[in-house]
Amino acid sequence: MRKYLNITTLKSLVVCSLIISTSCTQKNENAENMNTDNVLLQEWTGPYGGVPAFDKMNLTDLKSALEFGMKKNLEDIHAITNNSEAPTFENTIAAMEKAGKELNRVFKYYGIWSANLSSEEFRKIQGEMAPILSDFNSKISQNKELFIRIKKVYDDSLITPLEADQQRVVQLTYEGFAMNGAELDKTKKERYAAINKELSTLYTNFGNNVLADEENYVVYLTKEQLGGLSDGMIKSMAKIATDKGQEGKYAIPNTRSYMSPFLTYSTERELRKKVWNNYYSRGDNGDEFDNNENIAKILKLRKERVGLLGYDNYATWRLQNRMAKTPENAMNLMNAVWPSAIARVKEEVKDMQAVANASGKKITIEPWDYRYYAEKVRKQKYDLDSDEVKQYLQLDKLTQALFFVADELFNYTFTPVKEGSVPVFHEDVKVWDVTNKTTGEHIGLWYLDPFARPGKRSGAWATTYRSHTTFDGKKTVLASNNSNFVKPAPGEAVLVSWDDATTFLHEFGHALHFFSSEVKYPTLNGGVRDYTEFQSQVLERWLSTDKVINQFLVHYKTGKVIPKELVAKIKKASTFNQGFATTEYLASAIMDMKFHMTDPTNIDVDAFERETLNELNMPKELVMRHRTPHFGHVFSGEGYATAYYGYMWADVLTADASEAFAEAPEGFYDKDLAAKMVKYLFAPRNSMDPAEAYKLFRGRDAKIDALMRDRGFQVTK
Ligand SMILES: [Zn+2]
Repeated sequence: MRKYLNITTLKSLVVCSLIISTSCTQKNENAENMNTDNVLLQEWTGPYGGVPAFDKMNLTDLKSALEFGMKKNLEDIHAITNNSEAPTFENTIAAMEKAGKELNRVFKYYGIWSANLSSEEFRKIQGEMAPILSDFNSKISQNKELFIRIKKVYDDSLITPLEADQQRVVQLTYEGFAMNGAELDKTKKERYAAINKELSTLYTNFGNNVLADEENYVVYLTKEQLGGLSDGMIKSMAKIATDKGQEGKYAIPNTRSYMSPFLTYSTERELRKKVWNNYYSRGDNGDEFDNNENIAKILKLRKERVGLLGYDNYATWRLQNRMAKTPENAMNLMNAVWPSAIARVKEEVKDMQAVANASGKKITIEPWDYRYYAEKVRKQKYDLDSDEVKQYLQLDKLTQALFFVADELFNYTFTPVKEGSVPVFHEDVKVWDVTNKTTGEHIGLWYLDPFARPGKRSGAWATTYRSHTTFDGKKTVLASNNSNFVKPAPGEAVLVSWDDATTFLHEFGHALHFFSSEVKYPTLNGGVRDYTEFQSQVLERWLSTDKVINQFLVHYKTGKVIPKELVAKIKKASTFNQGFATTEYLASAIMDMKFHMTDPTNIDVDAFERETLNELNMPKELVMRHRTPHFGHVFSGEGYATAYYGYMWADVLTADASEAFAEAPEGFYDKDLAAKMVKYLFAPRNSMDPAEAYKLFRGRDAKIDALMRDRGFQVTK
């Protein structure tokens, strides 16, 4: 989930939904009285246009705040539909943009509990509220009176066009409602809502089953079985074993952050097989936590739901407002890259087999050997020692590098706020004031939550607590970046890997995308799923620019700049193992799409996965990055369903845009090109069609060739 973008804005929930209040007046008043003291509902006060009261949030307030927020949101919608005047942009669309302020605020805190401060107590509330929130959304997305008004404004706008940004809001709103069943008759609407409710529970169950298998399958090692593992990892494994009451042993939890290094370094082949098996069997163990039945149900319900709208399959329905537009376009891209990826796997396996043979081991490379022997090949071929690289990658310096890049490309200045002046939800969180370097104008606040802790979800992500809009008074941005670095002893430097440094820039790219927004309406801040990874991916490219290297990649003890030869090795090694990385990713992305293009009526999920991989000639030496029974992107919600291809879609743009910088007179610091990038690819967010925006930046459509070159694959014409 390294690049999972968690935009927990309620707009994503509410954008296609508005409500009718059914509760009686008496009840409403009670709720109102009950909630005036609820911190989660209160308007944000304090400096910088108001900030969330993270220092006062209390889980016991959450349920009543959600209930009250939903009720208020429904009342807002009711006021719109009750308006006796003819529907206009202002009294319908703009009013909808303003609706649900209270609930929006609650969801910012909800997001913190879900991602940064999770607990069993919270998950209980989450499970309880999921079907209720689903009902709430249906009440808005299926509100007939509301849709009639939206449709009127939309139809009018086709005759008398509005201003460009208003026109886009109307179009997105209308399409969102139409896509979500607003035009259905009463019977179909009821079925539609019932399906969504059932799905919301299936999604929760899916995720919980995977969690259960991650918690239940822990492998314990003895002291004799630690060959190849680093001291840091051994210490961490010992602590986890102790915490689990197995003092003296070493635990390998069934998660990616332990599986991956264990398979890379452990010399114990049988244990590698065991750890691999546990990890890739999550949700597929034929017990009470098995997800195959859930997946079949989810696929059938999704197909039935889009069938109500007249679509053949879920993928066609889902992609209509994505940059790719159709499943065929997404498949064409993946099919174009796939042959080169699996051809590269063959070469990688050959190299690895040679290393195994030379060491006298009589083995054939199996999936649990791939990472282990790939690492040996890496050392041999590229002589790259990742521990050596780490000594030049300090978190503090990397943070300064982010600010430097933001200054160069966006003309932003980052200044730490006075400690205690902005509330935070944990002492580790630090806050910076972001201003325009030339004018001094305040743009927003940047929150950084860098360190791992119990209850914080793994990986790295970016989110906003408030987005830039101007239609209802100018709002400044509150954006945050979140990582899971290991917290050091006081005064010690945090050293990170090249991959983690890249991810750090990646997430900052999302933050810059938030800060640079110049849209008027909230809906226009929404992301297009196969486009929102472009802005973050492209920022990764500045890590290996000379200006960043020479100023910020310095040795944590000597202060010496990272040696040129080492940088050259890193760059040379960048195409290493791309067969593995691209193939494991693409296999998942193709599977995601195929599951949603097929008829699921009698589907056998296990067999479908097997047969699809056979048809693809999937190399037997590796597996899908996310096997179907634990593919949370796709089955624990709908955010990434038929969207996993989006990372590669965005990467086509990333590679192509990077070549534009490489060719510019001043390279990656070319002011003119940077200004163009901010103007067309960052600031408009979703106020412009992404394909058109890209053309304005590049003067042509993006080509796939740059991506192929990036990964070291053959460009075929
Ligand atoms: Zn991302």
